[in-house]
Amino acid sequence: MSQSSGAPATPSKLGAVHTLPSYLQADNLGPWGIYLQQVDRVTPYLGHLARWVETLKRPKRALIVDVPIELDNGTIAHFEGYRVQHNTSRGPGKGGVRFHQDVTLSEVMALSAWMSIKNAAVNVPYGGAKGGIRVDPKKLSMGELERLTRRYTSEIGIIIGPTKDIPAPDVNTNGQIMAWMMDTYSMNTGSTATGVVTGKPVDLGGSLGRVEATGRGVFTVGVEAAKLTGLQLEGARLAVQGFGNVGGIAAKLFAEAGAKVVAVQDHTGTIFNGKGLDVPALLAHVKIRGGVGGFAGAEAMKPEEFWGVDCEILIPAALEGQITEHNAGQIKAKLVIEGANGPTTPEADDILHDKGVLVLPDVIANAGGVTVSYFEWVQDFSSFFWSEDEINARLVRIMQDAFAGVWQVAQEHKVSLRTATFIVACQRILHAREMRGLYP
Ligand code: GLU
Repeated sequence: MSQSSGAPATPSKLGAVHTLPSYLQADNLGPWGIYLQQVDRVTPYLGHLARWVETLKRPKRALIVDVPIELDNGTIAHFEGYRVQHNTSRGPGKGGVRFHQDVTLSEVMALSAWMSIKNAAVNVPYGGAKGGIRVDPKKLSMGELERLTRRYTSEIGIIIGPTKDIPAPDVNTNGQIMAWMMDTYSMNTGSTATGVVTGKPVDLGGSLGRVEATGRGVFTVGVEAAKLTGLQLEGARLAVQGFGNVGGIAAKLFAEAGAKVVAVQDHTGTIFNGKGLDVPALLAHVKIRGGVGGFAGAEAMKPEEFWGVDCEILIPAALEGQITEHNAGQIKAKLVIEGANGPTTPEADDILHDKGVLVLPDVIANAGGVTVSYFEWVQDFSSFFWSEDEINARLVRIMQDAFAGVWQVAQEHKVSLRTATFIVACQRILHAREMRGLYP
């Protein structure tokens, strides 16, 4: 990795510097460093397109904004906000906005890059982007949250737009926040622009099926992988980390298909029931209590015991960096389906591979959300809305086709599904890059 080793800059004869800028170097860069390693792994498979691979190692554009708001108690608080457009070779930037106290530039850069890969992997006509604010939104009142969202939208308004970059929900953001973003952008531009964000409420240009889409996509690729590996879903035991839109919906669909959800972990607790949790009852509990902690139909478990639970399928659907070299060895599941973005570190990936655990990587497994975001954006442009059945059928078809393509590449090159997905996606992105050519 000479490009990212921190070696002194070597100007070419034209003065161009071929060493990555310091903020893009791998060392100590957390999620961005992981992403750079993933790109390095696929470079040998890119053929003549490897000439363009540097494109993937730098975000096209990264904006850091100050987001000041007046708190309810009259004080002024400043929050750090970001919007990163990693790549726009295949279309406008696309990706969610996350509100979390641990958000960093490195994290948003990596998440934006994973969006480029994901969007190319399912072949929706987008580049990749991501945004975030470093804030714990649970500590804000509704009014504070609205002021924060509106000021952030106004600040990033110079780079977003329906044909430029289209935000969507991610961790701790939802339809209400998208409604405020759409309104703020529309007020600033003087026309109602529903297509500037996706994941909006259905009455405001949102799409049926969008809330459930990521979980439905996780389930769809899980079913495909089960078929290919001979895993019986009926009676299969499932452990899920995160029980929001992604983990909760995926658990519900797997349970309906006959699987037993035996363990769930979220920020409020870890629960276990060997006979299988009552998923609809747990979803209702989470709606009222904000998390799985205290659910009556289960016993509480120590958080560190979650990873070693006896199960066939494990779905990390919370945050990144959860499956590491410290817990990967304990995992008993045969199939890991990444509902979250970046939940498995490269060291853990290798451990799971050596144990024969099949990992369905985030960049294909959780692409259902952005796929239905694409449907929402298309519906907004045409002001013609589709039925939920049509949306779900199109979603399932796209996920199945994309997964089959990636599976075939993995067999062909004898590589993991993550590397195979990166091969497919990087080829699409760099082929577009090459055809467009350099400007000027
Ligand atoms: N935040 C979701 C993701 O990570 C959805 C992004 C979108 O719909 O644009 O894929």
